[in-house]
Amino acid sequence: MSDIAVIGLGAMGTALAEAFLNKGHAVTVWNRSPAKSDVLAAKGAVVAASVEEAVSSSPLIVACLLVYDTVRQVLDPAREALPRRTLVNLTNGTPEQARAMSDWVAEYGADYIDGGIMAVPPMIGGQHALILYSGSRQAFDAHAGRLEALGASRYLGEDAGLAPLYDIALLSGMYGLFAGVLHALALTGAAGIPAREFMPLLGSWLQAMQGGLPKWAEQIDSGDHSSNVVSNLGMQADAYFNLIDASRSADISTELVLPMQNLMKRGVTAGRANADLSSLVGLLQSSKQGS
Ligand code: NDP
Repeated sequence: MSDIAVIGLGAMGTALAEAFLNKGHAVTVWNRSPAKSDVLAAKGAVVAASVEEAVSSSPLIVACLLVYDTVRQVLDPAREALPRRTLVNLTNGTPEQARAMSDWVAEYGADYIDGGIMAVPPMIGGQHALILYSGSRQAFDAHAGRLEALGASRYLGEDAGLAPLYDIALLSGMYGLFAGVLHALALTGAAGIPAREFMPLLGSWLQAMQGGLPKWAEQIDSGDHSSNVVSNLGMQADAYFNLIDASRSADISTELVLPMQNLMKRGVTAGRANADLSSLVGLLQSSKQGS
């Protein structure tokens, strides 16, 4: 018997299995392409000949495959071995997929925990890795000690959909930031400014702007977007026109920045010119426009 079975040895699954091994846990591994097990076998992992063997080896099964459909497809032949075990699914997916997986696992008498990995493989097991979890509290408490090998854990609640919800919301913030950075670099790069020269300024500007986010949280939770506003939507919408015009003049695609202008215009038309930008969250929630 092992402590943990890791199913899926892509870049992330391999990092997870290594982190468990590094903490001295007994680990069984399985992967569709067997060659990826070799490096882990050399570090002490037991290589299972089948998924059934992997699932039967451990009370805790950690799956990290490309998509949810693959998880179901891979685990299906081993479903009779699932009872009384805990499946921790660290595959990226949607809240709906997580809830459906939780129901499927429950049919076979196993506990389910969904997880969102907020790290890239080299960070796993290090101090900057964060893993979000949701699902069975009892199962999480029982296995929290083992899961700590992967990085900091944050348990969000019994609803299995919470971890993927937080995960995709955090990714949304990240990609929004990346989109702005890409556009900024396209603009400055077209003007002959080396990215190396511009990046430090961009980095410190973005850091300074983050200072306003706690106020947004207060405004969104209270519903008051109009008190003590220092940069109102109307003013920002006008400045944003300049961003679009300057991009067009420089022949820079506006595909990343145009959606924000459309939303700002919608906010102004809806009578929110004197409110803060945080009021746009309500517009996103109340309309399918722009989806
Ligand atoms: P990889 O592409 O490196 O690995 C994919 C894994 O899925 C492999 O084990 C592969 O097996 C397996 N797989 C794919 N299709 C099938 C199939 N039809 N049947 C059986 N096995 C299959 O991806 P990662 O390891 O990087 O990512 C895994 C998960 O982790 C994803 O959901 C990803 O979103 C998430 N994640 C990844 C991060 C990263 O930076 N890498 C960061 C955070 C989350 P085989 O080796 O045989 O092809």
